[in-house]
Amino acid sequence: MKDIIIAIDGFSACGKSTLAKALAKKLNYRYIDTGAMYRAVTLYFIEQNIDYTQTNQVEKALANIEISFQNINQQNTTFLNGENVESKIRQMYVSEQVSPVATISAVRRAMVQQQQAMGKDKAIVMDGRDIGTVVFPDAELKIFLTADPQVRAERRHLEYLDKNEHVDMQVILDNLNERDRIDSSRADSPLTQAEDARVLDNSNMTPTEQMDIVLDWVEQVQTASNTV
Ligand code: C5P
Repeated sequence: MKDIIIAIDGFSACGKSTLAKALAKKLNYRYIDTGAMYRAVTLYFIEQNIDYTQTNQVEKALANIEISFQNINQQNTTFLNGENVESKIRQMYVSEQVSPVATISAVRRAMVQQQQAMGKDKAIVMDGRDIGTVVFPDAELKIFLTADPQVRAERRHLEYLDKNEHVDMQVILDNLNERDRIDSSRADSPLTQAEDARVLDNSNMTPTEQMDIVLDWVEQVQTASNTV
């Protein structure tokens, strides 16, 4: 079967990375979590006290940021300049700053360039907000995930509890809504459904039901691209 690019976009905490990871494993593809990249940049700005309203500070900082991924204990793990930052980038103080940082065009340009380089050999599943619209507008399969906001907040709440962290449900819900608002209304690469994306509302689906639907789509596009 021909290697393809699978782009998964959607609102915050819709289960994009859970689906993308499982799909990549099933297909033996690479998985790239682009949200982790914006989170790592945000963490750097916070730790280095970068005033991100100042273009020269942002550009200088971007030149010093190197983001990479490693598979550690079967977990996709994010590294910022050689440091494992996987746990830090998921903290609420990063979640609260990441969407404003992701509106900055210089930041987006730098991330998109790296993401396109990672996908040049295809065989990749990438999730984010602008993958099917900006990063890979020619991706063979584009999926736009949605889920009810309350369901999304509950899932994120459980993820925190799993890590023994207690974050108030209302704080989570407010953060998801605020990020969706900023992500959908920014001028550069707003979160929007690509015209040719297949929409999947997983509010009432089990992971298996969701995977069955997506694997069917993969088969359809692979069959179609094999006959071209
Ligand atoms: O996917 P995740 O929720 O971890 O993403 C964190 C934030 O990074 C999003 O709320 C959004 O502001 C930004 N992001 C983006 N473009 C992407 C991926 C994430 O702007 N492709």
